Amino acid sequence: MVHIKNIYKSFGNLEVLKGVSLLIKRGEIVTIVGESGAGKSTLLQIIGTLDKPTSPEKNHSLIEIDSLPIIQLKDKELSLFRNKNIGFIFQFHQLLPEFTAIENVMLPGMIGGKTRNELYKKAEDLLKYLNLSHRLEHKPGELSGGEQQRVAVARALMNDPKIILADEPSGNLDSKNAEDLHRLFYQLREEFNQTFIIVTHNIHLAEMADRRMEMKDGKIVS
Ligand code: ATP
Ligand code: MG
Repeated sequence: MVHIKNIYKSFGNLEVLKGVSLLIKRGEIVTIVGESGAGKSTLLQIIGTLDKPTSPEKNHSLIEIDSLPIIQLKDKELSLFRNKNIGFIFQFHQLLPEFTAIENVMLPGMIGGKTRNELYKKAEDLLKYLNLSHRLEHKPGELSGGEQQRVAVARALMNDPKIILADEPSGNLDSKNAEDLHRLFYQLREEFNQTFIIVTHNIHLAEMADRRMEMKDGKIVS
């Protein structure tokens, strides 16, 4: 479960999040829509522990993931927590160009103490699941956009995260690949009961979600 309360974020004088609260259950697929600059990516970064809210004590802010108060974690604990529990999928998938597909997928597993063989097997299984078993040794530059995005999804799943955070995951895909990716999210939820929080401009994806939130000017308005 993701529980956040009274989250504020400012960059200098610019107040970007103005008191955001939300409660998301395990296995829920939630989409966040809203105009450019509304604060969607900023919120996702904070939920994902990549950024911190402003003055959490003063604002009585709360960020809890499975009842663990994230705000109180030290940086080192935080990065371990993130690596184990949260998977990220971005619009520009940020695969490392000099590594093969399977190496890219294996990377997040490297700090978990597993052997290279174990990591390889797990990454191979994930890529098979995503219909990429014929592309294991290809580098990102040798893959189509949809294939690259699926590699990024596999990478996000490598450590069996409880929560997947996706920022415009289908933003640079054509409609067929976007639809496939959206279907995959639902398939993964069925299989692994993961929680998805997805920022999207894609109206079909937004409508498919269990719950749809709209952000405006740093607040959730509906
Ligand atoms: P989009 O749909 O265009 O991606 P968004 O809702 O994701 O928009 P954010 O990226 O959260 O919007 O940005 C919200 C506001 O905060 C914007 O006005 C942006 O310029 C500002 N902002 C975001 N990150 C920073 C930063 N690191 N430093 C300063 N300002 C920032
Ligand atoms: Mg954004």
